[in-house]
Amino acid sequence: MNKKIKKIAKSIQLSPVIKKRKKNNKLVTLASVGIGLVVIGALAGGNDAKEEVIPEEPVVEVVKEIAEDPNDIPIILEESQEPLAVVHFIDVGQGDCTLIESAGQYLMIDAGPDESGTKIQKYLQDREIKKIDYLILTHPDSDHIGGADVVITKFDIGKIYMSSFVKDNSYYSQLQEAINYKEMGFEIPKAGNTFDFGDCSVTFLQAKIYDDPNNSSLCFKVSAGDKSIFFGGDMERQAEIDLVDSGKDLSATIYHVSHHGSYTSSSKELLNAINPEYAVVSCKVDNEYGHPHKETVDELRERGISLFRTDIQGTVTAKISSESIEWSLAPDQDYIGGDSELEKKYKEKELTADLENSATDAKEVSAKEANDRDVAAKEASVKVESIDDGSKKDDLAAIGAGAVAGAVVGNEATSKNNKESSTAKESVQTNDVPASQDYVYIGNVNNMKLHQSNCTGKLPKESNRVYFHTLEEAEKAGYTKENQCKNCKPYGN
Ligand SMILES: [Zn+2]
Ligand SMILES: [Zn+2]
Repeated sequence: MNKKIKKIAKSIQLSPVIKKRKKNNKLVTLASVGIGLVVIGALAGGNDAKEEVIPEEPVVEVVKEIAEDPNDIPIILEESQEPLAVVHFIDVGQGDCTLIESAGQYLMIDAGPDESGTKIQKYLQDREIKKIDYLILTHPDSDHIGGADVVITKFDIGKIYMSSFVKDNSYYSQLQEAINYKEMGFEIPKAGNTFDFGDCSVTFLQAKIYDDPNNSSLCFKVSAGDKSIFFGGDMERQAEIDLVDSGKDLSATIYHVSHHGSYTSSSKELLNAINPEYAVVSCKVDNEYGHPHKETVDELRERGISLFRTDIQGTVTAKISSESIEWSLAPDQDYIGGDSELEKKYKEKELTADLENSATDAKEVSAKEANDRDVAAKEASVKVESIDDGSKKDDLAAIGAGAVAGAVVGNEATSKNNKESSTAKESVQTNDVPASQDYVYIGNVNNMKLHQSNCTGKLPKESNRVYFHTLEEAEKAGYTKENQCKNCKPYGN
C-alpha cells in the first residue's frame, strides 16, 4: 500500500468508497470540502472504472473549490500508482539473483555467481539502495552465493536466511567471512515460517535436507496482494514431489523456474500445483549445461505459460499491483530450449571425477594408513577444537562455521571453476581417515547426519566424512539427535 495514502487514511475518516479505491491503487484525489468528504476519482488504467467511483458531489464543482483555496486542502493530490512490489530478475549470467522492493523495503533472493558480485553492487547503487532488509540464500552452490560476500560487505543487511546445507568451497568460506565481518548470524527457516516486508509476505514451504545441495534448496512463496511468486532455488524432482505431497498451497502467479530451467526440475506434478501464468528463467546465454532445457521450455509452452528469460532478454522487471502485473518487456515468443544431453554429460564427467578422486583417496589412505593413525587422530581433535571456537558467538552461524571448519567435501556438483577444484583437491589431500578404533561416530558434512562408525546402512563417502570420538564432540560441530541416522541411532531411541 502506498505509504502516503496510509497516513491519510489514518488522519481522516475515509468513506468505504475511498477505501476500496485506495486498495485498488488507482489514481486517487482526495479532498475535504466543508463538512463532508468528497471523492474525486480519475482512473489511470480505467479498466474497472464502472464499479469504482460514486462521487457525492458533481466532480467539476469540487475541482473548482479546490483550485480557489489551495490552503484549505488538507490532502495533497496524489497519484497512488505505486505498485505493491517491483520484482527485478537481475541478469547475473549463469546463476540466480532476484531483488524485490516493496514500500521502501528490499528482499534479495540469491546473489549470483562470484563474478556478478560487482554487477549486483552497481545495480543496487544505481537505484540508491543502501539496505537489503532480507537476504535469502536458497542453497550454497556457487551460482547462488558467489556474489553474496560483496552484497553483505557493501550493504546494510537486515536478516539472512540460509539452508542448513553446508559446502566446503571457497565461496561458502567467503560468505561465512562476510557474515562474521558484519557480526551477523543467519537463520535456518522451517517450513511454515513467515515474515512480512513492505506490503509483501514470505512463507517458507520447505526446508528439508537431502543428500545434495540442489534438493535442499529453501523453497518459499512471496505474496503481494493476491499475486505471488514461487521460488525453489535449484530443487529437483525428488524435492518437488515431496513438496507437492506435503499438500501445501503452492499456487502462484509467477514461477521462478527452478534450477535455471533444467530438465531435472519443473516436474509436471509441481507445475500442476503452482499453475503459474508466468515463468522466469535465470541463466547465461549459451551456457554449458544447455539451460533452459527443451523439455522444460516445451512444457511451459504447452501449458500456455508466458516465458521470460534473462539469458536472451537480460534483466526483467515485473511491477505487481492488485489488478495487474506490468512487465518491462514482452515475453519470449520462441520457446527454444537447450539440449539436456549437455547437462547429462556434465554430470557424468563430475561423477567420474568424483569416483576417481575417491579411488585415489582410498589408495593413498591404505598406503599411509599405518603411519598416519596417530597424526590423523590428532588432526581430528584439532578440527573439533576449531569448531568449538566458532560456536560461541551465534548458534546458527556456528552450524555453518563449525561444519566448514570440520568439513572435508569433494567437488561441487554445479561448478568446474578452478578456484573450487583446487579447494576440492586440497580437501582430498588433508582427508586422512583415522583407523576405526580411533573414532566411534561419523558425520556427513553435507546433510549433517550422524552415524555410528559400525552403521550397517549407507555411510557417507570418505570425502564427506568427519570423525568424532564422542557425541559431545559431534554436538560441538553442530550434529544433533534429531538428525541422527535412523538405522544405527547413535543416541538410541
Ligand atoms: Zn545448485
Ligand atoms: Zn543454480
